[in-house]
Amino acid sequence: MADCLFCGIAAGEIPAARVSETDRTVAFRDVNPQAPIHVLVIPRDHYPDLAALTAGDGGLLTELATQAHEVARAQGIADTGYRVVFNTGSDGGQTVHHVHAHVLGGRPMGWPPG
Ligand code: 5GP
Ligand code: ZN
Repeated sequence: MADCLFCGIAAGEIPAARVSETDRTVAFRDVNPQAPIHVLVIPRDHYPDLAALTAGDGGLLTELATQAHEVARAQGIADTGYRVVFNTGSDGGQTVHHVHAHVLGGRPMGWPPG
């Protein structure tokens, strides 16, 4: 989609520190990390949020979850534990409207989240 930051990253038009990719997903480091490991996993196709993704292609959500775990394993945090977050809507803190899974780890996570 035109003027979408993460579509630009998926297309390679906007630089990002990629850690892995598949046919349908791209994983790259968050530019403002909130934990020692903070990676975003996105579909190459544009879906604005989790609701649109689940309505449009539930199988792609499964691929995002699989890739989130693969990132955690490759980054060495699968055994110590990690958190996967889909911020959704304004109260959820979503600022980029191309669905993305945050993979966070490398330190203990607080609960409840802020
Ligand atoms: P949200 O707030 O929508 O859940 O998450 C958006 C995330 O994208 C934020 O954690 C933010 O730091 C990250 N972000 C915003 N712009 C860029 C960018 O240009 N490159 C990268 N790698 N991450 C970005
Ligand atoms: Zn997009």
